[in-house]
Amino acid sequence: MSFFKLLIRNRLAFAGLIVMGLVLALVIATPILPLYEPNVTDTANRFLKPFEGGHILGTDHLGRDLLSRLLWGTQLSLAVGISAAVFAAFFGAAIGIVAGYFGGTTDNVIMRGVDMLMAFPYILLALAIVAALGPGLVNALIAVAAVNIPFFARNIRGVTVGIAHKEFVDAARLAGESHLKIILTEIVPNVIPVIVIAMSTTIGWMILETAGLSFLGLGSQPPQADLGSMLGEARSALITNPHTSVVPGVMILIIVMAINLLGDGVRDALDPRLRSGALTRPRPATLVEREGPVPAPVESGTLVLTDLQTQFRVGERVYKAVSHVSLHVAPGECLGVIGESGSGKSVTALSIMGLVASPPGVIVGGSAIYDGTELIGAPYSKLRSYRGDKVAYIFQDPLATLHPLYTVGDQLCEAIRVHHSVSKAEAWTRAVELLKQVRIPNAEGRAKVYPHEMSGGMRQRVGIAMALANDPDVIIADEPTTALDVTVQAQILALLNDLRRERGLSIIFITHDFGVVAQLCDRVAVMYAGRIVETGPTQEVLDDAAHPYTRRLIACVPELGEGRRELHAIPGLPPAVDRLPAGCAFAPRCDKAQTLCQVGVIELEGGASRKVRCLYPETDIAGMAKPVAQVPELKKGAGA
Ligand code: ADP
Ligand code: MG
Repeated sequence: MSFFKLLIRNRLAFAGLIVMGLVLALVIATPILPLYEPNVTDTANRFLKPFEGGHILGTDHLGRDLLSRLLWGTQLSLAVGISAAVFAAFFGAAIGIVAGYFGGTTDNVIMRGVDMLMAFPYILLALAIVAALGPGLVNALIAVAAVNIPFFARNIRGVTVGIAHKEFVDAARLAGESHLKIILTEIVPNVIPVIVIAMSTTIGWMILETAGLSFLGLGSQPPQADLGSMLGEARSALITNPHTSVVPGVMILIIVMAINLLGDGVRDALDPRLRSGALTRPRPATLVEREGPVPAPVESGTLVLTDLQTQFRVGERVYKAVSHVSLHVAPGECLGVIGESGSGKSVTALSIMGLVASPPGVIVGGSAIYDGTELIGAPYSKLRSYRGDKVAYIFQDPLATLHPLYTVGDQLCEAIRVHHSVSKAEAWTRAVELLKQVRIPNAEGRAKVYPHEMSGGMRQRVGIAMALANDPDVIIADEPTTALDVTVQAQILALLNDLRRERGLSIIFITHDFGVVAQLCDRVAVMYAGRIVETGPTQEVLDDAAHPYTRRLIACVPELGEGRRELHAIPGLPPAVDRLPAGCAFAPRCDKAQTLCQVGVIELEGGASRKVRCLYPETDIAGMAKPVAQVPELKKGAGA
């Protein structure tokens, strides 16, 4: 969504924008408006009330027209405040970028200087600067800009330090670019949003500071009006003629409020996380909005999914990430879920425990029954008591799921104590025991190290230990070995295999690798574009796949000792799930596709164990309706 649209959607920011627009229009039009001269005194008409003698806002203690002085004064205050903000932002950002980019001594020297400036109360510093330079509007501007430079420098330095060692900056360095070029092309574009945000939230403040200096008589000099000096001059008549103070006071209030509202809106709209809707606080459990009745489960097992449907609603678009997925897993069984990336495997897994972020995720139908309890739409307290205790997850990247600042032992203890009230010592003993179970050598010692001190394979073992912490019945492993090398992968797979045999665990193992499925899984479900296209016992599917997609996936697995064999990549890309074609989603990439493949809904058909969603399967499957004869007159691509 565009920046402007987002800004307008924020009602308060929009109000701020309109008010600021009006003020600016008035200020710009001031020279051509039919106003009195702002500085011409008329002592006969002192302190006229509003609307007396043709003065809309009345006159001040010297008989000068307040409206005229107000508009000219606003013009001056805005000009000074905004210029000060621009100066402060420019120099502050430059200092911050240099300090953050070069680091080391440069950083130290610069930032200690900035710290020294910050050690003074800013208003005292501003007063000292004006006292040294002499009163006057330009000097007030310099003072306000100077006292705000440290604020920008600190902010921008922090951001720059974060960027200066990112891979793309290193890449630019390796390409031999000069420091200046790197700063201008790699760093500056990344810090500009931060500068704009910092500016938009401080301009109001700087206008106030300038007004403050003028109020004290250190800014604009008589007879020139700005908002601060108008307030200062009206001070003595505050009780007798309050309108002289109220007029500039209200203007300051309006401007600062409008700028701050607008600034907050700009900040929110510029934040890329907010733009994708991520900053809206996600619900504790995925939103469930059923569009039909709860389907009755046909299968049985520890965990049974029936017709699960999960969508992402982003603006007008609806991404059908998971459509009518049914899966089940029995005690001690391992079910593989396989598919290309983006086929909806993770979303299926996360939907079970209501872990898909809402917004934008919504579960629109289906059932997930664990041990006789419906999980879809279950109260949050119920889901929470099951999460990690009955159904546990293992994720792909253990470094991202482990807390960097706690030892692995502490994190295991925490996982145990969430669900069981045991003492710290008991939890620690259990943690060490768990580490032993996942075959970590020297478990007592290893419990005391931090995640970054472990290798990838060891961290993943800790992830598994964490999943095992509360002796769950079901483990959902989402590509747990994708980031590991093959030897470690083999160890982890063997470990999971042992665990399920020892403990009767049910495992749902998500992967994109048929080789892994062949090693570990009893049954396999193949997903494509959010649907299951084939399911059956692993060996049967591997030996004689029925869906052309499954065949292509299997053909992509390289085999050692097979001699040279051509690996067949699948041409084309999976369809976008917000525009799924009618019929079979794989048809556009399938060389066996016929006209009928792109019409209507193709059901998952077959017997109790083997099922396929294909009109012209590669192999006959018991219990399937006969393939329909080709209807030649149907046009290719005709939707239903
Ligand atoms: P994978 O099979 O690789 O695990 P996922 O389950 O993560 O795939 O994703 C399934 C589909 O859901 C993808 O097409 C993805 O683009 C879509 N998706 C995932 N998260 C979001 C989101 N927050 N907003 C919109 N679409 C999403
Ligand atoms: Mg995934």
